[in-house]
Amino acid sequence: MVKGAFIRRLRKLLGEDGITTRVEDLLCYSFDATQEEYLPQVVTFPQNTQQVQELMRLAWEEEIPIIPRGAGSGFTGGSLPVKGGMVVSTERLNRILEIDEENLTVLVEPGVVTAKLQQAAEALGLFYPPDPASMEFCTIGGNVAENAGGPRAVKYGVTRDYVLGIEAVLPGGGMIITGRKVMKDVVGYDLTRLLVGSEGTLAFFTKILLKLLPLPPTTGTLLALFSSREQAGDAVAAIIRSRILPTAIEFIDRGALEAVRRYAGIDIDAQAQGVLLIEVDGEEDVVMHLLEGVARVCEQVGGITRVAKDQAEAQELWRARRAISPSLVHVAPTKINEDIVVPRSLLPQALARIEALEGRYGLPIICYGHAGDGNIHVNVMTDRRDPEKWSKAQEAVRDIFAITVELGGTLSGEHGVGITKVPYLSMELSPRVMQLFKGIKGIFDPKNLLNPGKMGLG
Ligand SMILES: Cc1cc2nc3c(=O)[nH]c(=O)nc-3n(C[C@H](O)[C@H](O)[C@H](O)COP(=O)(O)OP(=O)(O)OC[C@H]3O[C@@H](n4cnc5c(N)ncnc54)[C@H](O)[C@@H]3O)c2cc1C
Repeated sequence: MVKGAFIRRLRKLLGEDGITTRVEDLLCYSFDATQEEYLPQVVTFPQNTQQVQELMRLAWEEEIPIIPRGAGSGFTGGSLPVKGGMVVSTERLNRILEIDEENLTVLVEPGVVTAKLQQAAEALGLFYPPDPASMEFCTIGGNVAENAGGPRAVKYGVTRDYVLGIEAVLPGGGMIITGRKVMKDVVGYDLTRLLVGSEGTLAFFTKILLKLLPLPPTTGTLLALFSSREQAGDAVAAIIRSRILPTAIEFIDRGALEAVRRYAGIDIDAQAQGVLLIEVDGEEDVVMHLLEGVARVCEQVGGITRVAKDQAEAQELWRARRAISPSLVHVAPTKINEDIVVPRSLLPQALARIEALEGRYGLPIICYGHAGDGNIHVNVMTDRRDPEKWSKAQEAVRDIFAITVELGGTLSGEHGVGITKVPYLSMELSPRVMQLFKGIKGIFDPKNLLNPGKMGLG
């Protein structure tokens, strides 16, 4: 329970504008993209590592839950204060501290918005590949805590593949630095990798060291139109089999195309039941060669292809892709957005089996996403205020997960567990693995103060 004395100590530490307990402010930090709401008792805005250390020490003494928060764009409730307590926002920890052009690294604070980092790197001819569709507002801290991915993961991997080291504050206020500015490091356990994807449950990141790449000289974008979801899935499997490695292979189904047309005003195609948005990169001749190869494979499985004639058309296609998630909000009062992953060769099977659930439950199930990784956003469109529709949606979600696990897949490729996937964890993880997770949590956070109630850890 947050008491007046605790608030006074926080105020002394952070100053009048470094903390708020006003209900209208607390409300702004009570939700994320899940549409669930939990009100914190206090929100703080530290500006440096020392302040985070002090905050963590005070919370430890008073046994107050601490919830790290970036932009609050998570889809599984990771930044929600489900047990009350103090939300610690990273919005004032938002500096790019150093871009090292000699070593191709960048040191950032966790509140840096992902697209801002990309722009800063690109201005120097450098490249930070992870590109979640939320990159215009999500933060690097949130990306590291969720191990975020994006369309470019097909060729370049996910956030984890770019994190070289982390400065983090532990519950109680102790600080650790994992990793360093080197490309190889095998001294001891890989704590950096353990922290990546830890969903704010092990430590609060205060600085993050990332790897950069040279910016690819040029990109090319191709749109492939298909007469069914399954056919589009076949094309993905065929591209992977063909040994061509595009930068991105994004799938969009009819429902998502329709939502973007109606609510974002972008009309990609009026007929297609499924489309693939494919990007390749490299030197100009390589790009041409890759585009020809991808078009050939898509046409062989029955698709119709079109190469974007210039950057403006390519940008418009990507704008449509990024507009899907916000557009779907208008399709039904509640969307349950799952982000399953299956082996890429089994994507056509997964799409067909999920499509069959639409008929069984009488609810639209809209699919889109990072098909090149076998990672599909499956959106069950429902209304949580209608008990019948809500219960059907829950059953549909369980079936979707059952199909996924049966095909050798995983419940989440990007969004993590948070609170929403906890009921389904046992479908994928054995009791022994869960026991190990809890043991690790207990070592980092013996009082269970850091982001409690998440990931099935208690
Ligand atoms: C429209 C839309 C599109 C999206 N597209 C994608 C996509 O393509 N790929 C993808 O992976 N995700 C996507 N997401 C989900 C979301 O944007 C990502 O999970 C993102 O990484 C969350 O970042 P955030 O800054 O909003 O973090 P939050 O939602 O604020 O927090 C997420 C988790 O990170 C923890 N955290 C935040 N900062 C720290 C820190 N400094 N130290 C320790 N823990 C911390 C929080 O406690 C929480 O558990 C999308 C979301 C939306 C709304």
